[in-house]
Amino acid sequence: MLKVESLRQSLLALNPDIEVQALAEKVSGSRLDELVKHHDLILDCSDNFPTRHAINQACFQQGKPLVSGAAIKMDGQICVFDFRQSDSACYHCLFPEGDEVEETRCATMGVFAPLVGVIGCLQAAEALKLITAAGNTLHERLILFNIASQHWHEVRIAKDPGCAVCGAETQL
Ligand SMILES: [Zn+2]
Repeated sequence: MLKVESLRQSLLALNPDIEVQALAEKVSGSRLDELVKHHDLILDCSDNFPTRHAINQACFQQGKPLVSGAAIKMDGQICVFDFRQSDSACYHCLFPEGDEVEETRCATMGVFAPLVGVIGCLQAAEALKLITAAGNTLHERLILFNIASQHWHEVRIAKDPGCAVCGAETQL
């Protein structure tokens, strides 16, 4: 079964009163922009840098809040970029595209299953907080979590003035 269909059925089993639209398609460019434009909030649960950068760019351009989560082996991370706030840092400020970043994917490296649950729950919490304007979100804060040691670490994310996506020189 397609992941999106499995998710749709699980969500409807939890709450039959909601409406779930499952799209089983690879999106990029104008189609990605269009989808982001018509939603209030984006959660990036992808497993590769090109997708994360494309989603970051679309969210920045459309001024939508982005909840980014990732997990690999025993390490997880989560951060929020609320592009409704002017002068927000972005994912590209944190992980510039083109850097020599080793692409580690769950498909090849594996991931400790409960870690995905932890990061997913944190993303859900941030999504609810963003929608309801409750509490303080992880806007411009990166949480790094190692489940092997149960160590949590927080890093403030600074906007990169020279960022190719959100930097001053790229603004029109
Ligand atoms: Zn940026």
